[in-house]
Amino acid sequence: MQAELLPLYRKAQLTETHADLSASTEELWQIHDRFAKGDRHSDFVSTSSLLDLKIEIAQRMFHNCHFCERRCQTNRAEKPGFCGVRESKYSSEFLHYGEERELVPSHTIFFTGCTFKCVFCQNWDIARHPNAGTISDPQALARRIYARSVAGSRNVNWVGGDPTPHIGKILETMRGLAMLERESMVDARFLNIPMVFNSNAYYSAEACKLLDGVIDVYLSDFKYGNDACAHRYSNVENYVETVTRNLLVSKDRLMMRHLVMPGHIRCCTEPIVAWVRENAPDVKFNLMFQYAPHNVVDYPEINRFVSDIERREALNIAKSLNLI
Ligand code: SF4
Repeated sequence: MQAELLPLYRKAQLTETHADLSASTEELWQIHDRFAKGDRHSDFVSTSSLLDLKIEIAQRMFHNCHFCERRCQTNRAEKPGFCGVRESKYSSEFLHYGEERELVPSHTIFFTGCTFKCVFCQNWDIARHPNAGTISDPQALARRIYARSVAGSRNVNWVGGDPTPHIGKILETMRGLAMLERESMVDARFLNIPMVFNSNAYYSAEACKLLDGVIDVYLSDFKYGNDACAHRYSNVENYVETVTRNLLVSKDRLMMRHLVMPGHIRCCTEPIVAWVRENAPDVKFNLMFQYAPHNVVDYPEINRFVSDIERREALNIAKSLNLI
């Protein structure tokens, strides 16, 4: 974020794969995986860079959507899947000063729609109205990102709702940003801006591979310590396995958030803290207490704020494991 290193999306843009982008999806994945871990890049912008390859794969995934672990297999050009997102839209974008202090000011881009259906959703207006907002035109958005970078943003913060259904547009916007370098009026230093993927971490293994190599920081929620709570409150299956798989892949670039919920210290906070201590003890771990009981009259056990006793208990659990 001090612009001393090339952000990963620019490395991906400079990594020449020589891939034939009309090849089969299986062949493209093979080439992708071969180059994804390499550190080779040239000085020119190629026509089949690693970023181009990711975009091609993402465009195909859009027609058979499996960006998140729900794996609807929907052709989103024709109809939305569970998240309700067809074409990508965002409700707002601005310099955010309320994120973790390392990130601010953070250029947050709030996509509409979400892969979860949390009964207590704190962002209801964005998450449940996927068709509201501005169409995400990659070139126009790239120009906004550049302008915000000139104005002082330290990163681009892709968020929602949830950004997972929008991964294709995010990749295309990164390419749009890289392409701005060709314009004489653009100062290339302001294109060296890190990418933050701010999500519920419920993306598919394929999406995980697309993100790997372009995302500089993962700002990931770890909401539930077991699948039963995840199913009851967010209507998701196979939660713990999916999220921990993704967190492990991203752990070298990870900042983690856990929203403490009333009555869920033993079943959620405690096992999550234990997992982090064992598997990713060096991550930045943010214990959050801003849960508010929105629309949960049908769930009386969480229809209240976190108590002072619970707050102290959660803090003590995290402290006892040296996480905070
Ligand atoms: S992002 Fe997830 S919920 Fe949305 S259509 Fe794709 S697989 Fe379904």
